[in-house]
Amino acid sequence: MYLNVAEIESAITSLHDAYPDTSEIITPPHLTHEGRTTRLLRVGTRQIDEVPGILLLGGIHAREWMPPDALVSLAADVLEAHDLATGLGYGSSTFTAAQVTQVVENLNLLFFPCVNPDGRAFSQTTSATWRKNRRPAPAGSTGSSCIGVDLNRNFDFLWDHTSKFAPDADVHTSSTPCNPQVYRGPAPASEPETRNVVWVLDTYPKIQWMADVHSAVPVILHNWGSDQNQSTTPADNFRNPSLDTVRGRPDDGIGEFIPERDLKIAVELAERMNDAIRAVRGVDYGVEAAYGLYPTSGTSDDYAYSRHLTNPAATKVIGYTIECGDSFQPVFSEAEQVIQEVSAALLALALNAPEVTDGA
Ligand SMILES: [Zn+2]
Repeated sequence: MYLNVAEIESAITSLHDAYPDTSEIITPPHLTHEGRTTRLLRVGTRQIDEVPGILLLGGIHAREWMPPDALVSLAADVLEAHDLATGLGYGSSTFTAAQVTQVVENLNLLFFPCVNPDGRAFSQTTSATWRKNRRPAPAGSTGSSCIGVDLNRNFDFLWDHTSKFAPDADVHTSSTPCNPQVYRGPAPASEPETRNVVWVLDTYPKIQWMADVHSAVPVILHNWGSDQNQSTTPADNFRNPSLDTVRGRPDDGIGEFIPERDLKIAVELAERMNDAIRAVRGVDYGVEAAYGLYPTSGTSDDYAYSRHLTNPAATKVIGYTIECGDSFQPVFSEAEQVIQEVSAALLALALNAPEVTDGA
């Protein structure tokens, strides 16, 4: 059975109670519209400011029921395996006890399994296909009777798609509150759930990688989602206003700049995740730049990676969106298989991230 919101919260508490020396509960400051507190479980024997961190997000989209369960399951697996000094296996994707130790004692994994609990509760009790959060549109605005913001269009990265993209770019974002899927919200980072993710990145500058787990395609997406990647023209980037009328078009010779080294790291780590997934039961998720799915604005992964470019004091965060499985709410026996794939991918990310990043 899929976990409900209360079960996710109690899992965080019980895991911390069971492994107090290897975990810590982190509570971001912003309550959801319905008054819920959300929490992270940090897993690692070292302090948060001592070693590099990986932020793992789930549940941003309410109807995608598997990612929160996957993150809770992986946190439990890693804590138990470290405690018992055993390895972990997901199908033919295996990790030795020494590898588990390496991850837990040289990194911090920040599990944020349910970023949007209001949405998940609504999806699990009332309307299974619900995607957004549950915040009503501001009173008096057009569409003020409508509810919910797509949190993965609400981050402060090219948020105002109507002024930042070519009119004919097929950006999957909407400024209409009644859009049931991709309403971006009234302002960048207007939503408490978005601000909680921003708070985590602001508060813990040792975070160098982020994976936002979604469903379902499946595919592993790396930066960027705003336009095709290019590594030759640094001036062609999201901060350049002269591109606001042309951004997002395919094959027009103008793309979003990503340094060759960062792209190499992003792709190499994604390939290692994909290898780990394939070993579970043979499914090939594939790896592509997020733009390959469709152009986007305001997403978590591009926001995370853009932070060091808009603020030189910010840490560079390589961002991923992992679209797991091939349906939102499969029967749980299938979900368990997908959870193994996600677990294998994220462990592979943790295991390889420092080496691949330092070696590039
Ligand atoms: Zn999603």
